[in-house]
Amino acid sequence: MSAVERLDAAVIDLAEAGRPVPCTGRPEWTSDRTEDAEFAAYHCRCCELIELCAAAAVELDAHGGVWGGAWRRLPTTRRRAS
Ligand code: SF4
Repeated sequence: MSAVERLDAAVIDLAEAGRPVPCTGRPEWTSDRTEDAEFAAYHCRCCELIELCAAAAVELDAHGGVWGGAWRRLPTTRRRAS
């Protein structure tokens, strides 16, 4: 089973047990704003799935959003001086 599949299953199990992960229903985890990403990354620290979530992000090569306490930003486009 992949990390993504294990993460999905674990998130569902926790929700069913009445212990939803901190990112459940929260927009900060997918926001482009630095303040939101910092808030999200901070609150990931108390998530029991943090290591599995980070592994899933690597598996997906995620670019965007906060996963496992880290902001996986889209690469910025560098502009050349003309
Ligand atoms: S580590 Fe963060 S992003 Fe991953 S499931 Fe937990 S709260 Fe959500």
